[in-house]
Parts: sequence; C-alpha cells; structure tokens
Amino acid sequence: MSVTVRFAPSPTGHIHIGNCRPALFNWLFAKAQGGTYILRYDDTDQERSTQEFADGILRDLGWLGIQPDRIERQSDRFDRYDAAADELKAKGLLYACYESADELERRRNRARALGKAPIYDRAGLRYTPEQIEKFEAEGRKPHWRFKLPNHEEGDPFAIKRTEVHWDDLIRGTQTVDLASLSDPVLVRADGTYLYTLPSIVDDAEMEITHVIRGEDHVANTGVQIAIFEALGCKVPEFGHHNLLTTASGEGLSKRTGALSIASLRDAGYEPMAVCSLAVLTGTSHAVEPAANLEELAKMLDFKGISKSAAKFDPEDVGNLTARIVHEMPFEAAKERLEAMGIEGGEAFWAIVRENCASVRDAACWWEVVKGPITAVVAEEDADFIRKATEMLPAEPWDETTWGAWTKALKEETGRKGKGLFMPLRKAVTGLDHGPDLKALLPLIGRQNTLDRLGE
Ligand code: GLU
Repeated sequence: MSVTVRFAPSPTGHIHIGNCRPALFNWLFAKAQGGTYILRYDDTDQERSTQEFADGILRDLGWLGIQPDRIERQSDRFDRYDAAADELKAKGLLYACYESADELERRRNRARALGKAPIYDRAGLRYTPEQIEKFEAEGRKPHWRFKLPNHEEGDPFAIKRTEVHWDDLIRGTQTVDLASLSDPVLVRADGTYLYTLPSIVDDAEMEITHVIRGEDHVANTGVQIAIFEALGCKVPEFGHHNLLTTASGEGLSKRTGALSIASLRDAGYEPMAVCSLAVLTGTSHAVEPAANLEELAKMLDFKGISKSAAKFDPEDVGNLTARIVHEMPFEAAKERLEAMGIEGGEAFWAIVRENCASVRDAACWWEVVKGPITAVVAEEDADFIRKATEMLPAEPWDETTWGAWTKALKEETGRKGKGLFMPLRKAVTGLDHGPDLKALLPLIGRQNTLDRLGE
C-alpha cells in the first residue's frame, strides 16, 4: 500500500515552529516515499476554530515549502463520527456515564488519597434503569466512554493486565497496559466529540499508513489502537517525536503567538532556516542550514531522533538565516530584491550578500550605493578627505579604482592600514563596516562619491 500521512492541526491559532516539526516530519517522510500528504483540519471545536486560522495554516505551510496533496476538515464529517459512535454503542463498547466533572474530580482525589490510581471504576456500567431515569429527570445528559478491552471475557469489572504493543518508527517498541487507564470519554455530554474518535475514523477512512506526531500523544496511542481494532479497522504505523522546547525547557504554545511561522516570516527569516531548525534540533544530525527540503529529507533519520526534549535557541533562526543568505544565489533573492526596488542585479547581490543577515538587509546596502548618504568625517581626517577628493581617479571606474586611489593616497599622505582605509569608508558609505570597497566603489560611482566627499 502506498504511503499516506497527515498533518492534523486544529485551526484555533497560528502554527509555530514547534508545529513545524510534525508538519515537516510527515512531509519529508511522504516525499521520500513517494506518498500522499493530507492536511487535516481538526476543527471539531467549532467555537474556537476559524477559517482565518485555517487559511493561515495553509499559507504558513506553503511558505515552508509544503503543498498538501489533499485537504480535509473534520467539521465536514460529523456523520462519519456519529456512525462510528453508533457502531460502538451497538457493540456495547460505548456506554453512557452521568457523573459531573465535580463528582469525577472528587473521586479521583479520594483514590489518590488512598494511594490508588485514579482510574474510572465503570460506574456507568452499573446503573439501573431507575437510576438512569432519575438522572434524565434531573436534566443530566450522559457523556460516553469507550470500554477498554482490559478485562476478563464477559466481566468488565474483572480488570486484567492487557498490553498493547507497537513498533514506534522513532521510539522503538512501545508497550501500554490498558489496565492502567480509565475508559476514555469519546463524546461529551453536549454531544461534541473529543479528538480521539474523529481522529481514528479519519485515519482509517483516509487510509493513513503512518501517524507521525508529537510524543504528547504516546499515551493516547494504546487507547487508539484498541478503538481501531474495535471498529475492525487496520491500525496504522505510529511514530512519536520529541517536542521542541526553548533552552529553559519551556514548551511552545499556539495561543501565545510566540515564534509563530507568520511572525518569523514577517521578521525576514528564511523558510529553510526555520525548517532546518525545526527538523534537525534534537536529532543526531548537526543543526545546519539545508539548501532545500530534498536535502533536509536526506538528513532526517527517525532512529536518530533523541528521546529527550529537543531544546533550541530561538536566536538560531537568525543565525541560520544569515548563513543561508551569505551563500544565497542571486536567482533565489531576485524577486525579493526587485520588490524592494533594488536594481543592482546579480553584481550588487554578489557584493553585499555576505554583509546581510537577511535578504531585506540588502535595502540598506542599496541605500549606501544610491545615497543620499551623510559622510562621517572626523575633524582630524578633514584634510585627508580633502586630499582624497582632489585625487579621486577619473572615470571609467572598475575593480582597480579603489586600489589605485588608496595607493596614490598612501604615497601622498604617508597614511596606511586602518588610518588610510577607515576614514575613506566612513566618508563614502557613512558606515564603519560593509562590503569590500574595491567591489562597492564602482557601483557607487564617481559622481556619488564626489558628492559625499565634498560635503
Ligand atoms: N489535532 C491533534 C493535535 O494537534 C492531532 C494529533 C494527531 O496527529 O493525531 O494534537
């Protein structure tokens, strides 16, 4: 069967660099296998999900280089979840419970106080018809729990150790004992679905072959495998990766907007810097900028992903961006340079890129080329700059002009090294740093240089 994966965000906020990890792991895996990538909006929470966030996710994925083969949304598929819930009810595997959240909380606290695991006691399976009638008369609505297959045949109260195993693509063999878990609530009292059932129904119907997601879902997987089997569906392969955290161990939240893809894009960072950091952090590979997603796919090895948190320094987005920009071919920058009104073409880009921390820094160097620039001339250099103005070579200018000019000035004034070059740089560019003047000077041109020196 060909590979099909999905990235399944809830459109309840902007995706951030931490969400890039499952988005990209799935994408790189699918592309390496010639598989299909589904973007699935987990939007069963209709109050918090918005079209704007859904559009934003698609735009952000596009910026990263991910073009989903298919888009699905859970809000279109409630009838499927209803059918699955009905099927489980008919099999006696989904049962009504009437406890309120407060009651459940009290019971859990009591269990903890007695040193017991706070596992739901399946009270819902013991109600008499009279009790149910009374609950209903009180206006209570049931929530629905899935009866885990962790008991002796025919006796749901005779709990026994029941191991579920899977061979995790990333973490190796995993074991969950279903006897250590409460029966999961699949449907809330208001009839809405928790994430579990819709996700299983979709994974089964969309023939997802590999579920690659964060390790915060490991605990769910044992339960999900049991439900896949209860519905007679094929269980996909699972891979759970470590989560990105900041150096202090802080997780990333979709709601804070911290390190959102949109904010990184707006700040001028490179998508491949974000992708490389999101994918390679917490793996056996050094975190370095990959040229493109194909290269990144070659660097990714699921078995090389660490089991501990993937700590990263947000500043590295900037460091990797600078490394990418320093070597960026003109073709890759062309459109953005032109959009900024920069007409210098390939020659200009080749000269300035090493002095750019992001493509948009090129605008500052274009300003230095085209002016107007306020020359910076220290009092003690005023005579020297006057002399330099007099000795400015005649046109045509090329790469030899700077050398000829400074050589002549050195002979005339006896200045050398920094004392010779720095006053000229400051006078011509207004700055004490920048690209090689040998290359930059011909772009600035004689008239511009003269205007600046003469000020
Ligand atoms: N909507 C879920 C989440 O964002 C998807 C989890 C999964 O991949 O199964 O956590």
